[in-house]
Amino acid sequence: MADAKRRIVFLGPPNSGKGTQAEILAKDLGIPAISTGEMLRVAVAAGSSLGNRVQDVMNRGDLVNDGLMAEVIRDRLSQADAASGFLLDGYPRTTVQAATLDEILGEMRAELDDVVLIDAPEEVLVARALGRGRADDREDVVHERLRIYREKTAPLIEFFEVKGLLRRISGDQPIEEVSRQVKASMGATVG
Ligand code: AMP
Repeated sequence: MADAKRRIVFLGPPNSGKGTQAEILAKDLGIPAISTGEMLRVAVAAGSSLGNRVQDVMNRGDLVNDGLMAEVIRDRLSQADAASGFLLDGYPRTTVQAATLDEILGEMRAELDDVVLIDAPEEVLVARALGRGRADDREDVVHERLRIYREKTAPLIEFFEVKGLLRRISGDQPIEEVSRQVKASMGATVG
């Protein structure tokens, strides 16, 4: 592999397939896929103090506050496995979180290499969510999560685009085709 220390962010609305693609690419590259949503679900299931603090917010489809998320991500990125690169799935989700990530990267003397946006038409996202059966997949919550994505997270698309980091991929295709395009979008330094 040309660059072992690759640092990647995956961006996209709920049910775009971003989590699946994040796992595939991270495995290919030998870097940890860090899903903040998954970390929080594990905390909720374990009944930890973090889990208790975030459970209600998650169930209504809202975002956990930026201060708490900063603690979660700072702690995770300080672990040894993240020193050789990482793929973030679900962080940053707000402009404040993007600033926090910049700060953490600065402390690590590191930079992001790629931001992958996986997107799909709204009707595809809703249909997928309703077929999935997770606790936050009730129809009203699905629409709330999409509304919050558009309001709070979608502005990050331009933020990363102007930095020249954004790779846009359609998530409305078979999984294998999406993953092929994701890998191709990384350019010649991966493979
Ligand atoms: P996900 O699996 O990424 O869709 O995340 C599931 C839920 O976890 C979200 O709807 C939020 O409530 C919470 N969550 C995950 N990541 C973040 C984040 N970066 N900022 C705030 N809330 C988050």
